[in-house]
Amino acid sequence: MAYQFETRCLYGEERRSDLHPYGAIAAPIYQTATFSHPGIGESTGYNYTRESNPTRAELEQIISSMEGAVDTVACSAGMAAISLCLELFHTGDHIVCSEDLYGGSVRIFQTIGEQRGRSFSFVNTADEEAVERAVTEQTKALYIETPSNPTMQITDLRKMRQIADRNHLLLIVDNTFLSPYFQNPIAFGADLVIHSGTKFLGGHNDTLAGFLCASRTDLAEKIRYLYKTTGSGLAPFDSFLMLRGIKTLAVRMERQQENALAIAQWLRQQETIRKVFYVGLPDHPGYEVNRRQARGFGSMLSFQTERRKRPEKSWRESV
Ligand SMILES: *Cc1c(COP(=O)(O)O)cnc(C)c1O
Repeated sequence: MAYQFETRCLYGEERRSDLHPYGAIAAPIYQTATFSHPGIGESTGYNYTRESNPTRAELEQIISSMEGAVDTVACSAGMAAISLCLELFHTGDHIVCSEDLYGGSVRIFQTIGEQRGRSFSFVNTADEEAVERAVTEQTKALYIETPSNPTMQITDLRKMRQIADRNHLLLIVDNTFLSPYFQNPIAFGADLVIHSGTKFLGGHNDTLAGFLCASRTDLAEKIRYLYKTTGSGLAPFDSFLMLRGIKTLAVRMERQQENALAIAQWLRQQETIRKVFYVGLPDHPGYEVNRRQARGFGSMLSFQTERRKRPEKSWRESV
């Protein structure tokens, strides 16, 4: 029987008593670049840390288990995972993206992505017809954030899968905001899932990390090849910090969600706040769709303030 989510945060798919030398419960930090071989043509399974490392492999196995992926690569930052994902595309390829994406993703697409001959359309992916209209002969993928950053738009993943099937596209979802605790895009047809581990997964503001999870072995093989070739792997010590952070993911996500709802409700009552964007408010336009594809609303929210008359003096003059 599959473990509960909280248990998979600790062990992934299986708890093996022989996993670490001396019965260590916490993953040892294998701070080594190279591994010696028992003999000619023999290997311990590890050769060189750019390719793979036992501390990092344990982390990757746990993320794969949490996301229902066949394989995950742990990268030095969320942006490194997105950059690796971009390497799957070639000159002439076109990608349809959510219009409301993480700023760093927009930057990498519009600078490096476009300089290398890929093109991007930014559309409201909550509107499936707008997505379908943006697809061209050159389109190779849909790139989604749900909820989106910063206006918390919800995109229907099942509908995106249907569009992807009709047009032979990859469906890529950046799942940073809800984390695998609340949402598993692969279960709704995503081919690839991206995380900035720096945020909820790490949870302690002390480590940058990113993950690229593949739902199929053919994609996983391509990504592994790009990964060992480009050297974007997460360091052993940082892998350890991620493993440590993930142990408390479930309790943190629950508490943060509770807090976010209280803040959203409070903001709503303030005269100077014009609009509150939080998916956990039942009148949020994406509330129902989110409920059908996620187990929670997360803790990200944003709001619009009332436009105020400019003060007579700027703060610079008054200090
Ligand atoms: C922070 C973030 C990223 C980038 O991750 P880094 O770890 O900062 O490189 C990508 N996507 C989303 C949604 C993010 O919030």
